[in-house]
Amino acid sequence: MTYPICRGCGTQYAESRTDCPVCLDERQYVPRSGQRWTSLKELQAEGHGGRFEEQGPGVTGIGVSPEFSIGQRALLLRTSAGNVLWDCVPYLDDEMVRRVEELGGIDHIAISHPHFYSAMVEWAHAFDAPVHLHEADREWVGRPDPAVRFWSGRSMQLTDELTLINPGVHFPGSAVLHWSAGDGALFTGDVINVGPDLRWVSIMYSFPNHVPEQPQKVRLAADVLAGFRFDRLYGAWWDRVITTGAEEVLSRSVERYLRFERGE
Ligand SMILES: [Zn+2]
Ligand SMILES: [Zn+2]
Repeated sequence: MTYPICRGCGTQYAESRTDCPVCLDERQYVPRSGQRWTSLKELQAEGHGGRFEEQGPGVTGIGVSPEFSIGQRALLLRTSAGNVLWDCVPYLDDEMVRRVEELGGIDHIAISHPHFYSAMVEWAHAFDAPVHLHEADREWVGRPDPAVRFWSGRSMQLTDELTLINPGVHFPGSAVLHWSAGDGALFTGDVINVGPDLRWVSIMYSFPNHVPEQPQKVRLAADVLAGFRFDRLYGAWWDRVITTGAEEVLSRSVERYLRFERGE
């Protein structure tokens, strides 16, 4: 069975289709070159491979090289309660499986929002790991599978040290992951996007189309995150990691956003 993968956003689907709902949605876009499809096999034949780089203490970045679709990288967290893959990429091959096994494999997969669901079921099967998604985004699952588990509410304790939190921005079921070890770290994908100078973050309804998120939702997200302590914040891209003072970055970024909203 060949599962089609959208070349625009990297989402893998259970069956062939003409359109990609994720790309048709206003939070993504259909490329000007049109809707095109590929498959894992085809991507492997094109010479893609894995890119592995340390991104912080106990955190390995795993991306695709050459870059494909959105170009995000996933993060493998090596915690005292096992390994967790945060977010996912639309590609996997035997060499990548071997390297991840060397790092201890994967016990859980958790994903921030539908733009990074990508090839999650391939990863789940390769490592025999459940995928944790928020039930509010259930409609965006392109390839339903028993490995996919839905959580609900504002937060879900994944392990002693790891909590999934639903700030409800960008997508209703968006998730960020809090790791309490050390000074604490927050993993946000682009639900909370890290700016180029690493001194600001931004929260948008649609990044590609520059549509701001509703102010009351940004306010609620800040409230939901207020109880969590973290010094580092890992965004969706290789060069977007805030290595210290991240809690302060988030609060002053939200403050700036709400100041603009009030016209000040
Ligand atoms: Zn797509
Ligand atoms: Zn997104």
